[in-house]
Amino acid sequence: MSQNKRKIKVGLTGGIGSGKTFVGEVFNRLGLPVFNADFHAKKCMREVKELKDQICKKFGDEIYKDRELQKERLSDIIFSDYEKLQELNSIVHPFVNIAFKEWVKKQEEMCLIKEAAILFESGANKYLDVVVCVSSSMDLRIRRVMKRDNCTKERVIQRISMQMLQEEKEKLSDFIIVNNGGQLILPQLINIIKQIS
Ligand code: ATP
Repeated sequence: MSQNKRKIKVGLTGGIGSGKTFVGEVFNRLGLPVFNADFHAKKCMREVKELKDQICKKFGDEIYKDRELQKERLSDIIFSDYEKLQELNSIVHPFVNIAFKEWVKKQEEMCLIKEAAILFESGANKYLDVVVCVSSSMDLRIRRVMKRDNCTKERVIQRISMQMLQEEKEKLSDFIIVNNGGQLILPQLINIIKQIS
């Protein structure tokens, strides 16, 4: 049996501002390697020629200027048109998948985390053993993102409205981590690790 088969692959998802990255960092401090799908999606969009060509074909050559992705331009397009957002995700996702598989092969720990905002939407959950959803109140999520990204409440609400509902993600997940400030994160993670390993 290959080493990969014995590895437990855990999906870590949640809506914008729920605290996925924050929770991922805590998992990482507990010794679990974390693959950040958003980071790898951006990396692929910068570096993989085949993907860049596909993006240009779909969104126009001017989406890259001097070989640099025009992030603001792309964001303006995808966050004002749900279909375009879906199209971009469907183009980028296969490349992130390849990067994830390569990453998994290199890991030596038996429990690995894949952090991704669109885990269910992309179908990536089918290739994972367990899914954990990070949940927070809407108000807290909005305030966190406004502070982190220095943006308006309207902009955060617009992006939240384009995502799957938190309640829906919770229903599809095996575990929920409550990240509302009142509950400690560490004991929740230790409990999950105990149950899955
Ligand atoms: P996105 O989908 O936009 O990437 P996310 O779910 O990964 O969002 P984070 O970036 O982890 O969310 O969290 C949003 C902000 O809130 C960050 O600045 C993070 O440091 C902060 N934050 C999240 N959870 C906590 C917490 N429990 N204590 C303190 N700060 C937190």
